[in-house]
Amino acid sequence: MKKTLLEFTDSGIYCPKADVYLDPWRPVSKALISHAHADHSRWGHQHYISHEFSTPIIKHRLGGVEIASKKWGERFSIQGVHFSFHPAGHIVGSSQIKVEHKGETWVFSGDYKTYDDGYTTPFEPQKCDVFITECTFGIPSFKWPSQELIFDQIQQWWKENAEKGITSVLFGYSLGKAQRLSFHLREEVGPLLLHPVIHAHNEVVGSVKSLPPHQKLDKNIDPKKLKTALILAPPNAQDASWLKKWMPYKTAAASGWMATRGARRRRGYDTGFVLSDHADFYELTNAVKATEAQHVICTHGYTEIYSRFLNSKGIYATTADTPFEDEPVTTEEEKP
Ligand SMILES: [Zn+2]
Repeated sequence: MKKTLLEFTDSGIYCPKADVYLDPWRPVSKALISHAHADHSRWGHQHYISHEFSTPIIKHRLGGVEIASKKWGERFSIQGVHFSFHPAGHIVGSSQIKVEHKGETWVFSGDYKTYDDGYTTPFEPQKCDVFITECTFGIPSFKWPSQELIFDQIQQWWKENAEKGITSVLFGYSLGKAQRLSFHLREEVGPLLLHPVIHAHNEVVGSVKSLPPHQKLDKNIDPKKLKTALILAPPNAQDASWLKKWMPYKTAAASGWMATRGARRRRGYDTGFVLSDHADFYELTNAVKATEAQHVICTHGYTEIYSRFLNSKGIYATTADTPFEDEPVTTEEEKP
């Protein structure tokens, strides 16, 4: 029997029986939000419902919006349809959204990774009939190294620069990547300094899940400290006038895209570290299998290629258009 609990509309993923949307991209009356990234959590809805860890982050980014907070696994009903949030392992508060009605179960993944990064609440697989999945890195060449290896590479790069009196500038997305780096990097050779946008995000995210207290980067910083420092900055702070202040420096980016040589060169970084908050191809495939879904809908990333791959393995898969982004490089609110 055709599953009809959710449908894709011009405003977003819609549940007609409950009259609510999941991560809608146009203003609606009631929105369930998977996580606080700008392409999933948009301004203009009348009522928001999210996981309790996402609530302060969404408020920080969108201002005084009305949000009802839920705990992991807490079931709540809207017009007889049951909803619940389950950890997605992507950033703090990121959730898969489960929708159940009369024996039919759908799960919307939002963005996710199954790798336990030691900071974000780890992904929990959910069985369902229909699984709506992202597939940002849905081709076999994306296979992530362990994060321990990557963090060692970053520490080594930082140490080599510090020994020469060169400031290390590491670019990582301000919500998610920056907290993962702030949590794991160790101040062995110098201070870890946070760009003001990242400092503000760390304060709000740190209020729900604690983070080490790193210093904010400002004009009064002691130049001697700078020589051995690692500055953590959002990708769009890469503009020359901002960077010039920290001369001499070396730049690097932490992103899944750094797995491809071309991306690193195009964006002009000296070094790239392969670190993503999205699942690689193999994580995606294990996650899809764990749902035991009869139908998989691929929403963003390598949708065509990945859905063809699933069909070739006997898993019925289709695609749907959404404005959700791949691992973002910049967003409006990150302008320095
Ligand atoms: Zn995201």
